[in-house]
Amino acid sequence: MSLDNTWFTEIHQDTAFSLRMKEKLHEEQTPFQKIEIYETVGFGTLMVIDGCVMLTDRDNFIYHEMMSHPVLYSHSDPRNVLIIGGGDCGTLREVLKHPEVKSATQVDIDERVTRLSEKYFPELCDSNDDPRAKLLFDDGIKYVQDAAPGSLDVIIIDSTDPVGPAEGLFSTAFYRDCIKALGPGGLLVQQSESPLLHTDSIIKPMHDSLRNAGFLDTLALHFPQCSYPSGWWTATMACKDMPVTFLREEQAEKKPFETHYYNAAIQRAAIACPEFFRKKLYG
Ligand code: SAM
Repeated sequence: MSLDNTWFTEIHQDTAFSLRMKEKLHEEQTPFQKIEIYETVGFGTLMVIDGCVMLTDRDNFIYHEMMSHPVLYSHSDPRNVLIIGGGDCGTLREVLKHPEVKSATQVDIDERVTRLSEKYFPELCDSNDDPRAKLLFDDGIKYVQDAAPGSLDVIIIDSTDPVGPAEGLFSTAFYRDCIKALGPGGLLVQQSESPLLHTDSIIKPMHDSLRNAGFLDTLALHFPQCSYPSGWWTATMACKDMPVTFLREEQAEKKPFETHYYNAAIQRAAIACPEFFRKKLYG
């Protein structure tokens, strides 16, 4: 359906972000959420879930690289990686660029997100046939509850906002199960919304819940994400039993694969904490 000269607008807390549309490519209500796919004039293909921008062709590389490379270069030997959510497969593709990773399991509750990504964002699904990749369609909360203790090195939570099926992915009970599933030196990273809009409502409570669940240390990473509310986004890292540091900085300097946003200097910049944020998070 042609949508020439109309706009897609996401309204969030008295702000709005709009993209000029070319056409609507797809719309469906799954048992979990409403998915829409549009072709835009300036940002390529756009995926929207329940009215919120999930990704665009133009800027998804920043989010997917920041959800994967900093945490993987902070772990001494990231062999077994679990991605919860991430059904568009962009994070999975980045994780599989690391030769140390021996298995990467993606557990998204909604198979339709992946099937639509295969059709409309094929480049993000480039690595789905990698023998190290396993794609499961199930509730990530249940998957982690049932995971063998100590079986994972890194858990990446690439979920929708903390409402609907993703709500439990932001709870202390879920984080306790994550600690159990992580082995020694294990790390978790979770998308954690905007530092400008959600520090009090989501980010600070997330750091508190992670520590209350038993994670030893937490660390915020921030990066630009123009198509998300406020254009500025965060990921929160947490470590099971040793402080989160940029452990493999030298290896990140010589990363053996291409990226478009991430490099070692970007990781150092992303963990530098702006004053207002530092005061809120760490007192
Ligand atoms: N980059 C995105 C963002 O922050 O807007 C997230 C993208 S990814 C498409 C989010 C995925 O989380 C969706 O595909 C959704 O199905 C999945 N999801 C939500 N709740 C989940 C749960 N409890 N278990 C597994 N996947 C879940």
